[in-house]
Amino acid sequence: MPAAEGTAFAPQPLTALSEDEQLFQTTVRKFAREEIRPHVREMDEAGVFRKDIIGQFFGMGLMGIEIPEEYGGQGGSFFQAVLAVEELSVVDPSAGVIVDVQNTICNNALLRWATPAQKARYLPRLATNMVASYALSEAGSGSDAFAMATRALDCGDYFVLDGRKLWITNAAEAGFFLLFANARPEAGHRGITAFLIEREFPGFQVGKKEDKLGLRASSTCELILDGCRVPRENVMGEVGQGYKIAMETLNEGRIAIGAQMIGLARGALEHAVVYARQRKQFGKAIGEFQGVQFELARMATGIEAARLLVYNAARLRDAGRPFQTEAAMAKYYSSEVAEKAASKAIEVHGGVGITKDYPVEKLYRDAKIGRIYEGTSNIQLLTIAKKLLNP
Ligand SMILES: Cc1cc2nc3c(=O)[nH]c(=O)nc-3n(C[C@H](O)[C@H](O)[C@H](O)COP(=O)(O)OP(=O)(O)OC[C@H]3O[C@@H](n4cnc5c(N)ncnc54)[C@H](O)[C@@H]3O)c2cc1C
Repeated sequence: MPAAEGTAFAPQPLTALSEDEQLFQTTVRKFAREEIRPHVREMDEAGVFRKDIIGQFFGMGLMGIEIPEEYGGQGGSFFQAVLAVEELSVVDPSAGVIVDVQNTICNNALLRWATPAQKARYLPRLATNMVASYALSEAGSGSDAFAMATRALDCGDYFVLDGRKLWITNAAEAGFFLLFANARPEAGHRGITAFLIEREFPGFQVGKKEDKLGLRASSTCELILDGCRVPRENVMGEVGQGYKIAMETLNEGRIAIGAQMIGLARGALEHAVVYARQRKQFGKAIGEFQGVQFELARMATGIEAARLLVYNAARLRDAGRPFQTEAAMAKYYSSEVAEKAASKAIEVHGGVGITKDYPVEKLYRDAKIGRIYEGTSNIQLLTIAKKLLNP
């Protein structure tokens, strides 16, 4: 008897997509290949993401995938956001992370934690024309993010924020910042509070932009809060709930970083396959040598395994089931797979692989960040081990 017979629920393969999901995936794939690919090298070299492409993200609804239609969004699922990040990252992981931070971290946090007034004020803009950043890290607090030094002084109707944030993705383009500061330092991490900050708020400034190894077109900047006045109505959740909000959103964001990494690895494999078919040595295409075939086969297997982890974590999240450990595994493993795939893709290309005439050296540079942001690989391993030892 088939396993599912007699039950209301027939399990589907993890990679099976609904009709809507398929259509969405095809649309994003086509867009990435036709509209973004021609500009990837120029954006990497300039270290700037084209504004017109960000405009197209908004036009296609890619910046408000989960935002309900009543606020101008697409009313889609978290899984769709994951699909979008994956497809964009096949072509350019910088494109992937812009859409990732907007959807799976910022919009996502507002959907769960914002008041109706905050939603009405920000969601329509986030869906249509305002880029968002998520500002947790500081120079002195990375892995130990909740040891932050940024302070929020409660002045009744408003808070005054002082401090600096570092490494903030999308900050050069963002109009909106979901920013964490400690409003009750004496309470430790229980004082951490989430603030909704508009770029024009007095005392707020976007500082230096980092000049990075990879993911160069995605902006990463410092934020300076110098007596920044934030109205009390811009506190999201309760004072002191920031820790919970940050942890929750990071758990979800990690799944999408996994998607960014499987997209990147797919891109590397695609380039390697094309090259293996066309490059001739010893009188035949190098793809005819088993040594090369085995590398391609290993890459494909790693990508498939990573994709199953990412899709499962995303489906668990959409089903409202626990997914924290699965998200950590997905991010940890996908970033390993991406780094290895990009490295192997260069080797398949031989010498030209490390030149800028071929796209794989960029993917190799882009892969490195996967093991660092939204929790380093060690932090993911700690999360997984904690569950093993304290089930
Ligand atoms: C390109 C880029 C974009 C980013 N975007 C954002 C963003 O949008 N918003 C944001 O808030 N932050 C962002 N970050 C910050 C990022 O999340 C941090 O860099 C990351 O969490 C690591 O912190 P750190 O750099 O201070 O390294 P550290 O925490 O100093 O870690 C250094 C090393 O020590 C290891 N380590 C630390 N603690 C432990 C431990 N307990 N056990 C074992 N090993 C440990 C780490 O694994 C790592 O190998 C971004 C960073 C980069 C580089």
